[in-house]
Amino acid sequence: MKHFVVLLAVLCVCGAVRFGQLCSGNPLNIRRTSDSWGHGHHGASRGSREHQGLDIRCRDGATVYAPFDVTLHGKVTVYTNASKAAINSGVNLRGQGLCFKLFYVRPDSASGSVRKGRRLGVMMPMQTVYPGITSHVHVQMCDQSDPTPYF
Ligand code: ZN
Repeated sequence: MKHFVVLLAVLCVCGAVRFGQLCSGNPLNIRRTSDSWGHGHHGASRGSREHQGLDIRCRDGATVYAPFDVTLHGKVTVYTNASKAAINSGVNLRGQGLCFKLFYVRPDSASGSVRKGRRLGVMMPMQTVYPGITSHVHVQMCDQSDPTPYF
């Protein structure tokens, strides 16, 4: 009797995908570490909940770039709190097999595609809402897994 082996290969490319530069002035995607508002790593404490993304340093008003070829899938409303309206924007992206969101970015467009290294939008004025914070883009995977391996 012939023996059949059905191989269901699930290819994990998590070691291969790397984010290119996200923000002007930060070519190495340096992360936000610790400041008076908290830590920037995935899983950091945010009071009763955990930080679900990874924070990459980005000065207010800096240009935000596509980290690889991406497609855009609508804007994100980050906060419901009106006091944070100044930074209440982000964008849903897909590329390299990943689904993720960038917070605190005002995107030039909410649909279509952007090539790696081309402008996606602009970093919003985070200092006006969180004075003294390390201004940053928040990278959050759609499944809320840890984005750190991609950096
Ligand atoms: Zn964050």
